[in-house]
Amino acid sequence: MPTAIEIFKHLPKKNCGKCNFPTCLAFAMQLANSKAKLADCPYVTEEAKAKLEASSAPPIRLVSIGAGESKFEIGDETELYRHDKKFFHQTRYAIVISDTASDKEAGAKLKRAADLRFERVGQNLAMDMLGVRNDSGDPAKFASMVARVAKESALPLVLMSADAEAIKAAASAARPSRPLIYAADANNWQAMAAVAKELKFPLAVKHDELNGLAGLVEKVRAAGVEDLVLDLCPRDLQQLVERNTIVRKNAVKKTFRGLGFPIVTNACGSKQAVLMALTSTMKYGGIVLLDDLDPAHAIPLFVLRQNIYTDPQVPIQVKAGLYSINNPGGDAPVLFTTNFSLTYFTVAADIEKSRVPAWLLVVDTEGLSVMTAFSAGKLTAEGVAEALRSSGALEKSSRKEVIMPGMLSRMSGKLQELTGLKVIVGPRESSGIPKVLRSL
Ligand code: SF4
Repeated sequence: MPTAIEIFKHLPKKNCGKCNFPTCLAFAMQLANSKAKLADCPYVTEEAKAKLEASSAPPIRLVSIGAGESKFEIGDETELYRHDKKFFHQTRYAIVISDTASDKEAGAKLKRAADLRFERVGQNLAMDMLGVRNDSGDPAKFASMVARVAKESALPLVLMSADAEAIKAAASAARPSRPLIYAADANNWQAMAAVAKELKFPLAVKHDELNGLAGLVEKVRAAGVEDLVLDLCPRDLQQLVERNTIVRKNAVKKTFRGLGFPIVTNACGSKQAVLMALTSTMKYGGIVLLDDLDPAHAIPLFVLRQNIYTDPQVPIQVKAGLYSINNPGGDAPVLFTTNFSLTYFTVAADIEKSRVPAWLLVVDTEGLSVMTAFSAGKLTAEGVAEALRSSGALEKSSRKEVIMPGMLSRMSGKLQELTGLKVIVGPRESSGIPKVLRSL
């Protein structure tokens, strides 16, 4: 967003008040803070409008793909480094099915894609898209595979063909979802841009050289398509990092805005496909196309993405309170931990594993882990005593004892004094919890 002074330069300076602000400068200040709309000034010229809209556009265009619940957005990133603020729209992964695949092969791939679903720290990690590639060269065969995939999965699609007629043939099967068309290149861009414009689908543009890509993007935009995704065609991992970084840096620093669009990496056919997916995730990738994905590779890939796309200033938290695990009754023991998600889910999983019924009290530590919370004064004996009282834990369990994390042993005396409970110092590592519970 431009500053108030930059906006002011483009306003008519009549100070007439018709925008509901007494002066043009006051209006400019409200605009800069997104508290007014440019359209509220009846005298602003079309030229000024175009200039202001261009300078307030996000550095990387926001592109939405799919429809309904599985719709997602990519782009609209503002940072080069995650720690400066956060990254907003996570990398999306697609498994690609060839239109020459047999019925059985296509079915197996669809099932594998659907099964790539894991839960971690309370969040679902899963495959995001499916691609259909026109290897047959036959538009009818392509449309038929797209129809099958769209029927069996609600995931957004990538329509992969160099033939605009094949894309057109498959378009109705892909609706009502808004698929990504992949891809326009130096040879087919006119036909592809025409189809993308007519169908209102986003379009990937590819070129094996960045200057060439910038020129191609300009032509496609001039043809009326703005929702673009860029394939930078890296030949190896080094070039992937270099090109993705150049494009992101130029967009975010606004030194060159011609390539300010999300990036798609086509890793199909590469022996380093998983490495390309990992590198794209770390280095500004919007979408990664893969021939397939083994669950053993999917888990680290999804976890990497989860870590990169969380807000570094806000720890992932669970709700504080009393949680029942393994159907505890009145004689079940009470343990406590913090509300940092990773800590909670690790402790809860270890209690579950023990098969011993137990109550787990989650103390609000603003999402900090045990030692960090203790060091920061967010996990105190007084706080735990209050949480034991307010959560009802003392009424739920008839045992007059509480199990604390081993790292907090120095707090045990004070806690015992405040609650009158027997305080059992648990293991330093959560993995030791089953042994302690079974020994009670
Ligand atoms: Fe200035 Fe336009 Fe507002 Fe009048 S309506 S005060 S010209 S910004």
